Amino acid sequence: TADRTERAGGAATHCPYCALQCAMSVTARATDAADDTEAAAAPTVAPREFPTNAGGLCQKGWTSASLLGSPARLTTPLVRNASGTLRPASWDTALDLVARRLREIRATSGPDATAVFGGGGLTNEKAYLLGKFARVALGTSQIDYNGRFCMSSAAAAGVRAFGLDRGLPFPLTDLADADAVLLVGANPAETMPPFVQHLRAARAAGGLVVIDPRRTPTAEQANLHLRPAPGTDLALALGILHAAAADGLLNRSYVDKRTIGFDEMWRTVAAWWPERVERVTGVAAADQRRVAAVLTGARNAYVLTARGTEQHADGTNTVSAWINLALALGLPGTPGSGFGCLTGQGNGQGGREHGQKADQLPGYRRIDDPAARAHVANVWGVPADSLPGPGRSAYELLDALGTATGPRALLVFGSNVVVSAPRAAHVADRLAALDLLVVADIVLSETAALADVVFPVTQWAEEDGTMTSLEGRVLLRRRAVNPPEGVRSDLDVLAGLATRLDRSATDFPTDPETVFTELRAASRGGPADYSGVSYDRLRAGEALYWPVPAEDHPGSPRMFLDRFAHPDGRARFVPVDHTGPAESPDPDFPLYATTGRVLQHYQSGAQTRNVAELVDAVPESYVEVHPDTAARAGLAEGDLARITSRRGAATARVRCVPSLRPDVVFLPFHFAGEQRANLLTNPALDPTSRMPEFKVCAVRIAQAEPK
Ligand code: SF4
Repeated sequence: TADRTERAGGAATHCPYCALQCAMSVTARATDAADDTEAAAAPTVAPREFPTNAGGLCQKGWTSASLLGSPARLTTPLVRNASGTLRPASWDTALDLVARRLREIRATSGPDATAVFGGGGLTNEKAYLLGKFARVALGTSQIDYNGRFCMSSAAAAGVRAFGLDRGLPFPLTDLADADAVLLVGANPAETMPPFVQHLRAARAAGGLVVIDPRRTPTAEQANLHLRPAPGTDLALALGILHAAAADGLLNRSYVDKRTIGFDEMWRTVAAWWPERVERVTGVAAADQRRVAAVLTGARNAYVLTARGTEQHADGTNTVSAWINLALALGLPGTPGSGFGCLTGQGNGQGGREHGQKADQLPGYRRIDDPAARAHVANVWGVPADSLPGPGRSAYELLDALGTATGPRALLVFGSNVVVSAPRAAHVADRLAALDLLVVADIVLSETAALADVVFPVTQWAEEDGTMTSLEGRVLLRRRAVNPPEGVRSDLDVLAGLATRLDRSATDFPTDPETVFTELRAASRGGPADYSGVSYDRLRAGEALYWPVPAEDHPGSPRMFLDRFAHPDGRARFVPVDHTGPAESPDPDFPLYATTGRVLQHYQSGAQTRNVAELVDAVPESYVEVHPDTAARAGLAEGDLARITSRRGAATARVRCVPSLRPDVVFLPFHFAGEQRANLLTNPALDPTSRMPEFKVCAVRIAQAEPK
């Protein structure tokens, strides 16, 4: 049945931030203001009734109208002049300059000397046109996006096990009937607070289990909180699976009917009995057995993972370990139970389906699949053999910039890599080595500040476009207010450049609905088939979960109930073993550092650090430290600490947290300059997903300023 999108006054749209995509109304002018003051002209937001947020918004959503009309907005293109200063320029001047430099670089160094970096917050239309721009207008294989830092391990593990990756293969509201939910490396009480209401039943039944090295606000609500050492989640999954098997709790008939590969997988698990796992993880064997009992004693149970599971050098295997547990208990594809990953970025799901990923074409197709290449090339009106092959993954692309064999020009859309990429100081150095850096953004982000050319672009409630939420539901964001004068859509930027690079304007439309119509054709027949989704159906309020292969198809809210997406319909167990983090504490760097988000800020902070209420609440970075660890370093609450890893040093205010493991410090990654947590992080990459190991590195901590 359709969920009707109610208009509660103002334009019905969705939040500019995370993948929950809470429904809200944006009103361009306050209804009770009759004068012409700034307050009267300010847009307002209000939550709308919608299944996922059920009338709720978090602080970020409530304050999101501040982004519209923010004094920090860019309203004119900027071009760096001969003395190195960014100066205002006309759109034609900026577009002409970029197109000319791209031509020159391509002529002297080949198409792969030009590169594109996208973002998981871009609408589906922008993500799609960006991929087409790279492969058709630039002819480059060098395109990837910041979702590589976010969901790539879950995506790879999902494809391996189920034959298809959709973060939640069931509507989020199904969780409301669960009496057991295991959350691994997920902190929705801070990252997407309205999500937590769907965990009420599990909590009331005593079945809410949280696995996290920190006692997060989510862990505070759990019936059972397990605190493994960072980088040992995989071993913990093996221990819980071992405990379930030893206690005769596996679902043997499900394993026999719906999966293959159990015996091979078990050969590794057999060696990880709970007491051995306790020595590696620090989680008591009895607690491992309790988790197995909670999950198998429940009528309906779910296992959900997030960044804490994925952002490791063995992130794909770690997610696979949790999927193996879920499969052995018979959860995925069973009505009322399941396995899922909580996507983080606003369009983290759709952003990985439409071709801005180095190894993929629209429709979630593999770029090395000849049939996929032929289909997409036909939609694009180009020869299939003209499409480039797979390019470098996000960090590898950034690492290669300005090197002898790497790109000389980079175009960045919707990403702030000098804050959000690992080994951030090195990334800034690589950007500085480019011949041309172009950034399209709404504000002068830390990355835009380094650019040769900056394009000011529209955002969120200033434009139409579609997003795909964490449950695979396609949503329409509607234009509610006019963009500031001088600002254009990213679609206009791509079209402006493509036409200057001899592509026709009809091949690079600027109307979002027209782009979406082409996206539908390009996705037809692919794993993420949007061909039956239309703006008209979305405007009518239909709840369309992909795949939607025809205009009269109702969509696919619950996947895998009859069969998984592998050709034989069965899910795969994947044998995985514990290897541990790429970097462990040693005498020079005796602590684990882990990174994450706080309630009031989003991703690199480029948006939320420009919202006064959010800055007032959390104005600067901090480091959580156990009081004993702080005392040993001569630090007290509120002191400025210097945290140092093998890659650099960051500063942050000390917060003493008695519930933290004494061997762990935690830093949020939203802050700029010397406060960047990613000055510390390790770019060790997962061999399958190419995800960097954001969640664990070795550090030491000391006073940053003499007392
Ligand atoms: Fe926006 Fe996410 Fe907060 Fe909802 S939970 S209001 S989508 S940031």
